Amino acid sequence: MKHVPTINKSGPQPQKLAALRQAHREWNESPDVLTRLTRRLSTTLNLETQLAILADEIGQVVPYDHLTYRHQITSRDFVYATGMGGPHRCDYRLNLEGSFYGTLSLSRRQKFTEQELEGLELMLAAAICPIRNACHFIAIEQAALTDSLTGVPNKRAMDEALTRASCLGERHGEEYSLILCDLDHFKQVNDRHGHVVGDHILKLAAVELERAVRNSDCVYRFGGEEFAILLPHTDEAHARVVGDRIREFINTITVNCGDTDVSVTASCGVAMRLPEETADQWVARADEALYRAKDHGRNCTRVFAAIGI
Ligand code: GH3
Ligand code: MG
Ligand code: MG
Repeated sequence: MKHVPTINKSGPQPQKLAALRQAHREWNESPDVLTRLTRRLSTTLNLETQLAILADEIGQVVPYDHLTYRHQITSRDFVYATGMGGPHRCDYRLNLEGSFYGTLSLSRRQKFTEQELEGLELMLAAAICPIRNACHFIAIEQAALTDSLTGVPNKRAMDEALTRASCLGERHGEEYSLILCDLDHFKQVNDRHGHVVGDHILKLAAVELERAVRNSDCVYRFGGEEFAILLPHTDEAHARVVGDRIREFINTITVNCGDTDVSVTASCGVAMRLPEETADQWVARADEALYRAKDHGRNCTRVFAAIGI
């Protein structure tokens, strides 16, 4: 039978409240390692902070020279490392309820004793639930920032990146350019060949965009058939070159649909960030340039020149 907590209406319970206060004090000030470890881990969902706490607490019981933690969380390779290595090493695969939450390794100059390994296992057993929660938190954060169709960052991620770029541009005077890239007549592609083909082309377009840009540039899908590329350290002349390269890459996409090969073109609008400009104003200028590219017949790049257009 399920235990249903009832509210005791018989008045104040001074003894129980005093015991609770005492328990809280002990819990907060307890010198016992496991209580302190779990209490500290429960204060954060940030995996890096949790691993720093775990590394600190382990180091007080089992001295080590080097600690690493590795885990692939969705597409991200998460690595945490502290200290320098030694020849003796122990590795733990962190598993809970059939799921894997990363590998933790310790190394040092002296061999680990059996008692030390047992102590380590007790600490890892206490840490595994908070670590699982932090891993889930990263996965959820990533999902919230990722477009589910193409796997590239979504509009929310783009808004965050543009705000960050605006702050950095303002503080350090760094140049940033933005390209808005919109597939041409995409409604017709869907109407003629169906949404499955349309979706497939959107996925291929995201792949081509990522191939066309540098690692330091970032591609976002911020609307149906609309992508954005943020280019740090890039002025508008260089961004125009990238815009044209992007269009060439997208022009290479062909999807065979039985009796026809479907291909697409794209139009690009470029704007370099201006001093004191908000992210919205910057996007609006890139959008204006994109509008001109569409107006000019599509399959071309237009730049919102900062001066003298
Ligand atoms: P333009 O050259 O002026 O951009 O014309 P367009 O047809 O591309 O633009 P419009 O805004 O008229 O239509 C955009 C189309 O993009 C409408 C919709 O069918 C398609 N689209 C938007 N999101 C998706 C999606 O997730 N999957 C598919 N398959 N199609 C989408
Ligand atoms: Mg379009
Ligand atoms: Mg559009």
